[in-house]
Parts: sequence; C-alpha cells; structure tokens
Amino acid sequence: MFLFASLGSGSEGNSFLIKTDKTIFMVDCGFNYKETENRLSELGLTFSDINHILITHEHEDHMRAIKMIIKKEKIQISCSYGTAKKIGIVDEVNIINPGDIVVDNDLQVEVVPVPHDAREPCHYVFKKDTLKIGIITDFGSLTPKIIESYSNLNYLVVEANHDANLLMKSSYPTSLKNRIFGKLGHANNDLTFDLISQIKKDKLKKIIFCHLSKQNNQKEIIKHTVKEYFDKFQCEFISQENIFNWSEIK
Ligand SMILES: [Zn+2]
Repeated sequence: MFLFASLGSGSEGNSFLIKTDKTIFMVDCGFNYKETENRLSELGLTFSDINHILITHEHEDHMRAIKMIIKKEKIQISCSYGTAKKIGIVDEVNIINPGDIVVDNDLQVEVVPVPHDAREPCHYVFKKDTLKIGIITDFGSLTPKIIESYSNLNYLVVEANHDANLLMKSSYPTSLKNRIFGKLGHANNDLTFDLISQIKKDKLKKIIFCHLSKQNNQKEIIKHTVKEYFDKFQCEFISQENIFNWSEIK
C-alpha cells in the first residue's frame, strides 16, 4: 500500500499525507490544531495515527499547528535546522539536512532544498520500492537538484500558485507582487509548466496541482497553460476548502 492524501492546500493552510502498510507521514501542518484534527477525521485518522511530521519551512500556512502538536502529541517531527531555528523548536525536532535520505520503516525520503524566501526551505520526495511521489510547493525558481530529484516520479504534487498576468493586474501592493513573483517566491503557472517539462516523465502517471491562489489563479488557466501535459497525464487539483481523498500511487 502506498497512498497520498491532503487536508487541503492554499495560502490559508497546507498539509499532505503519505501512507504505507507501516507508517503515515504528514508533510506540513498549516491548518490550526482543531482544523487539522477535523480534517484528519474525514480521512479516518486521528493524530495518534501519524508517525512522522515533516515541515517544509517556517511560513505560517505550513506549520500553524506545530507548537500545539508538540505540546499535545508524541509524534516524531523532522525539518531543516534553519526551519527549526526560525520556528523556535530546535530542541523538539529531529534535524535533517538538504540532500539527506531519511529512511523510516518502508519509506525513503529525500530532502530537497528549494529557492524560497524562508530560512532553509526543503521539500520531500518519497520512495517505496520502485514507486516515487514528490511534493513541491513554495518555489520561485528551478535548480538542477530539483529537476534531478523530481525526475522519474509516478506522482507529482506541484504548486501552481498564480497566473503572472492576473497577479500583476491584482490589487496586491507592489512589494507583495514582487515577493510572490521573485526567484524566491511562488511558482506561477509558467514555472510549473517548466518544472513538468524538464523532469523525466517516463513513469509519470498523475499530476496533482496545489497551493492555488484564490485571487490570482483559476483551474481553467492552469489547464490551458499546461495543456500538453493535462491531456497526457491524469491531472487533479487540491483545494483549500476540502480534503483530497486517498489516492493510490502506482
Ligand atoms: Zn512559503
């Protein structure tokens, strides 16, 4: 068994789940504790079912529940030193380094550094036997390491944050526009397209788009921008409001 699900994704909260016969990983806990608990229950889970939490970076929409989880639960938590330092949880977590491969039960997890305006942001690629799923959000540009690590996936979960034109025309202050659009910002649909274009896709089956901006993106624009791949692979979206139910990686 090798399953993926999400509690939801967007600027108000992100959380993803990977489940095997032996373990359940949570990547990010960006909803508050109560909301996380509620959404977990929709997937038939409680906090006590989670074996390991990985944090990608210190922005609120990725770690809102972490301090409460540390206080109330006994779950192993891992993240980079920079992320732990910035959140103030260095003593409570297991520090992992960019480039590490973390082995936990039947999973190997690669820690991949990404360009984003956080202290030491990392995203994660999960491998079980010959199957691989990679999750990547909050990246403002591509690196050779990203292309290498996200090649030969079966499942890709990728940010499609905004459409560049919609963002530029939006009422956001210029400083925020520049932050989102910058090399350390968020992936616009063209950058998402570039990532998909550059990775090796021989085994790729499904692409799941996430972290969509409510104001500055639309599913139809994403479909249009990545049309070539939308027609070729199974494509789905994760919303902010609802859970994304278990999907088997194969
Ligand atoms: Zn972020």
